[in-house]
Amino acid sequence: MALRTIRIQGDRVLEKVSRPVEKMTPKLEQLIDDMFDTMYDGMGVGLAAPQVGILKRIVVIDVGEEPIVLINPKILETDGEQTGDEGCLSLPGKAGTVTRPNYVKVEAQDENLDTFVLEGTELLARAICHECDHLDGILYTSHVQGELHDTNYEEEEEEEE
Ligand code: ZN
Repeated sequence: MALRTIRIQGDRVLEKVSRPVEKMTPKLEQLIDDMFDTMYDGMGVGLAAPQVGILKRIVVIDVGEEPIVLINPKILETDGEQTGDEGCLSLPGKAGTVTRPNYVKVEAQDENLDTFVLEGTELLARAICHECDHLDGILYTSHVQGELHDTNYEEEEEEEE
């Protein structure tokens, strides 16, 4: 298990557009493994390569169903709307209200660079949109309605007991 350092908002790498992956290499396979480790360690449901400082169009997602790797993802179709709290490992301890499509159809490549199409609704649709935004240097704060709020209050409650 290898954890990578997660870049935090303010780091310019998070504002850059990532480059397409043209061929799979052992280095990129290692990167993908490390991205999963880093995402699970941070209790996130998604992580994009620029968040660990690599400007490649690679995203990992796990909303509790199965681990998903999206390489060079392209959103083909969206439908509906959902409004809810969203967070990001690059903005630890914060969340904000974001409206996203409730359905997303995305075309991407897997680790063998074979093309596939994935459909997602609800949390998966939200995660796909959020992570694809990272590849274009966009953070969820540019979609947020109202103010960000803290998500760390639970720890304080435990200490009072
Ligand atoms: Zn994020």
